[in-house]
Amino acid sequence: MTNGQGAAEAPPTSSPDIFAKCPSKTLDDYRAAEELGLNPFYRELSSEIGPTIRYAGTEVVMLGSNNYLGLTTDPRVKKAAMEAVARYGTGVTGSRLLNGTLPLHTELEELLADWVGMERALVFTTGYTANLGLISTLVQDGDAVFCDSAAHASLVDGARLANGALRAFFHNRPNSLKRGLRSWRSQPGAGGVLVAVDGIYSMEGDWAPLPEIKALCDQYEARLLVDEAHALGVVGPQGAGTAAATGVRADLIMGTFSKSLASCGGFIAGPADVIGFLRLFCRPILFTASNVPASLAAALTAAKIARQEDWRREVVLRLAERLRDGLADLGYDVGGNTQSCIVPVHVDDLVGTGLLWRALLDRGVYTNCSLPPAVPRPMLRTSVMATHTEEHVDRALDAFGEIAREGIVDAERERLLAVWQLDEPSEPSQVG
Ligand code: PMP
Repeated sequence: MTNGQGAAEAPPTSSPDIFAKCPSKTLDDYRAAEELGLNPFYRELSSEIGPTIRYAGTEVVMLGSNNYLGLTTDPRVKKAAMEAVARYGTGVTGSRLLNGTLPLHTELEELLADWVGMERALVFTTGYTANLGLISTLVQDGDAVFCDSAAHASLVDGARLANGALRAFFHNRPNSLKRGLRSWRSQPGAGGVLVAVDGIYSMEGDWAPLPEIKALCDQYEARLLVDEAHALGVVGPQGAGTAAATGVRADLIMGTFSKSLASCGGFIAGPADVIGFLRLFCRPILFTASNVPASLAAALTAAKIARQEDWRREVVLRLAERLRDGLADLGYDVGGNTQSCIVPVHVDDLVGTGLLWRALLDRGVYTNCSLPPAVPRPMLRTSVMATHTEEHVDRALDAFGEIAREGIVDAERERLLAVWQLDEPSEPSQVG
């Protein structure tokens, strides 16, 4: 660039560096937590994810996985994945649109649509891109998507990417949704509306009140999307999810392969015209590579098993109840719903959550820390799988019991505060 007299313009003396934000207080806190052995994130697990796993050379009970039906280690699922590699290779190296659609996609889409009672389904590379793609493509200028305030990040991110409006309503409060819908419909020329909820919420394990929400959708002519990520395979007839369980006719169903279906990928199911529209216009289908063959074959086989083997749902829900009741008896603040595999343990303070996580790991139990802003309050998220036994759950309860009885979290907190003036981090981690 010149200044008009031929000389080059000098850059401003202190141009902001795009990297300047990276060395943050959060990063310092995270590194400090790492040094203290209290960083629960990015842990390396050195075995397959079964009811127990190998962590740092020892066997620990796995309460930190979404492998609800226990199918990631099922020989039939593994065999199908290996056969798919032998037949189709390791990747498709292209998008669904051009060169990335296999017969496995077609068979899986037919099965999924039939399972959740929709005309058609479309398989995406992840569940995240399924929600992102659906909402950003469908909710156009003048339209709105109403999301429950606890809805999964992928629904909210899809809404942020969309040209239409994002409206939030209070978690599981149909009256809050009603106020929003009424106000939207009172605006002249307001466009179409999508209401997006999780069937079972990913952190708390509570259910959406689908019948009330569906009645409001009907009253205000909105379409209903139910994200069945944590419900598919677990609840409802043949594991078809919360909409099927409550007899609610959703307009769109989303599901993922990364939980009960023992793989990686996701799908949207709905009317043929909507799926056809997504196939042509949805950027997270058009501009990203398709699923690898092994993940499709694993999901396909897992879906067939999930539909048929009712015992898996019965076992996993019974074990979740055993864990939930046992923790409550020990004095822990547990949430959740008796009809979900998720058992949240509320701890409320960040350091206490990290200390409980560590104390459990030291006693052979792997759990997940969920921190704000992923959740309103710090908590441990635990969940069980159908391949756990009562002994696994009891081993975990013994560890929780010892920690509570001996006041280990409080003692450790005091010790830490004394040796290392530890503050509660001012900006909580983004990871949850
Ligand atoms: N929806 C919900 C409710 C989820 O919990 C998740 C994953 N945690 C997703 C969507 C995204 O699914 P995926 O892991 O397949 O990207």
